[in-house]
Amino acid sequence: MEDIRDILKQYWGYDAFRSLQEEIILSVLSGKDTLALMPTGGGKSITYQVAGLAKEGICVVITPLIALMKDQVEDLKRRQIQAEAVYTGMEREHVESVINKCIFSPVKFLYISPERLASERFRIKLKQMKVSLFAVDEAHCISQWGYDFRPSYLRIAEVRTFFPEAPVLALTATATPDVVEDIQKQLHFTCPNVLSKSFRRENISYVVRNVNDKLGELLHILSKLQASAIVYVRKRNTAEQLARFLSENGVKAGFYHAGLIARQRTQRQEDWKNDITPVIVATNAFGMGIDKPDVRIVVHFDIPDCPEAYFQEAGRAGRDGKRAYAVLLCNPAAVTALKSRITKGFPEKKYIRQVYEALGNYFQIAEGSGAGYAFEFDTDAFVRDFGLDYVRTFSAIQILQVGGYLECTTDINSRSRINFTISREALAYFRPDDDLQNRIIELLMRRYPGIFTQYVWISEDYLAQEAGVKRKEIYEILIALAKRRIISYVPGNERPYIVYHQPRLPVSYLTIGKAAYEDRKKAYASKIKEMVRYIEDSSRCRQLVLMDYFGQKEKKGCGICDVCLETKKHTTSGDKTRIEDEIIAILMNKDTDLKILVHRLEEQFDRELVVATVRNLLDKGKIYYKTPLLLSVKKMNV
Ligand code: ADP
Ligand code: MG
Repeated sequence: MEDIRDILKQYWGYDAFRSLQEEIILSVLSGKDTLALMPTGGGKSITYQVAGLAKEGICVVITPLIALMKDQVEDLKRRQIQAEAVYTGMEREHVESVINKCIFSPVKFLYISPERLASERFRIKLKQMKVSLFAVDEAHCISQWGYDFRPSYLRIAEVRTFFPEAPVLALTATATPDVVEDIQKQLHFTCPNVLSKSFRRENISYVVRNVNDKLGELLHILSKLQASAIVYVRKRNTAEQLARFLSENGVKAGFYHAGLIARQRTQRQEDWKNDITPVIVATNAFGMGIDKPDVRIVVHFDIPDCPEAYFQEAGRAGRDGKRAYAVLLCNPAAVTALKSRITKGFPEKKYIRQVYEALGNYFQIAEGSGAGYAFEFDTDAFVRDFGLDYVRTFSAIQILQVGGYLECTTDINSRSRINFTISREALAYFRPDDDLQNRIIELLMRRYPGIFTQYVWISEDYLAQEAGVKRKEIYEILIALAKRRIISYVPGNERPYIVYHQPRLPVSYLTIGKAAYEDRKKAYASKIKEMVRYIEDSSRCRQLVLMDYFGQKEKKGCGICDVCLETKKHTTSGDKTRIEDEIIAILMNKDTDLKILVHRLEEQFDRELVVATVRNLLDKGKIYYKTPLLLSVKKMNV
């Protein structure tokens, strides 16, 4: 086995592992099933990647979203590591060729969705591979108690029997204690083994600001700070409006959301990274894979849905270890709105069925077909044409996604691809629907050499320009050609698209089970409650509240959140006497080491204050050092 540090150096150029990475890798390499719990950005990917490289054979990575797969595969390929992905929307032949490659060539990583892993067809092929390790990314999806439950995650463990020697490495950033237990159970861990990194962020000062004028407060904070910042909002147009407002008031700000086209997004991101616009106002589409070390503040202009999301987003501040701030702006109206999200997030089942039906009609899919199809999704047009409500429609799609019926993805990195599925000769016998279709076929053949033998990247915009028609027309023609099985077309996703994981069902057959609906609604409601608690509880250190939520029970407050600072300010002479009394009481009972004394008291009182009081008592001669370290109290002579 190669040394894992050499692997890290060779492929990533990094000199050292971050804390816990090495432990995780060694645990896996010793054959143990392992659950790695690390905050976002902690560097989870490298753990299974280095472990996979160190082992002979192929590492199968199960991950829920196509977007994540593509990112990872591209990243690995850039590092000269052989990686492949199989996902819905790929043409069958392409899937087969990738899978065969995994059987016959030295591919190191295969990324697949849990749905694929469940398919019998795939399992037959899988048995022929030499699987060394199963990595389950975003493993919280396995648990019904989690916030992202995906039913097919439950079936992952079934394939373990093919490879009894291959351990499982499950990774997640967000798991509460019941989820941690569930993950290990569902993945059939041979014995419990959790490696978890502390969720404490020493350098982040968490602050909750209750203000009526959120706008004024935001401007105030950002003008004062003059540093790299992220402002999170919920809605796209809020992002645009806020960025404009800030810019008009002297704070250079850009905005970012999933409605921008890829080029704009990259540009905005670059401008922010290079401090041309030091402030970025963004929806939660912003963040994944972003690793700017010197973000000094993350402001939440709207309240996130759950502590998981809050912790992840706030955690993008201060990666350089220097002091940073995570500020949540709120007021009673915002808290009320937060609570009302439960009903919006879980529209009635009747409504969900209606959306499902509408989608099928919109994409003109016949009942019983559509599995594996991908459609570009113009959300605005869809909602408008069918007289639907935007927010509830999205919630419905989300629930359908959890149910495993379809997936709405807004991947940002990929371009459209086309491959002719019939030969050039056979094409000569094809009768196009109309002249435009004919012209597009010719354009494809002329502009994209190689398109008969493999997938080539195409641009709908370019074709539209060449043909002198609208992009939408091009798109429709390509879809029509795909339906007639002339080409295989994987639309790029500068815009969102919808992938059908299952054939369209008659709507009366559509089941929206308890797991996809009732259980999740309950879990969602309880997360909202936790968020409200975080906001309203001004008696506990914010850092501790968050850690507690993730099952890390500690007592030492951070000393820098608004609650801790407020407590310090209110340390009165009364408190000082109380500390004095406590010290004396402890020492009366037993002579005590200074360190132990401070440690016992710092759970209740500010550490510095304790130390100062000890010094003070020494000065006053009320206590003394019996040995160089042991403190004792002057007993009164009675
Ligand atoms: P996670 O999946 O935990 O959110 P990632 O695996 O995406 O985090 O890693 C976040 C970033 O940290 C990536 O840019 C990665 O290259 C970087 N990183 C991970 N490990 C190290 C390391 N040991 N040294 C330096 N950078 C690292
Ligand atoms: Mg990750």
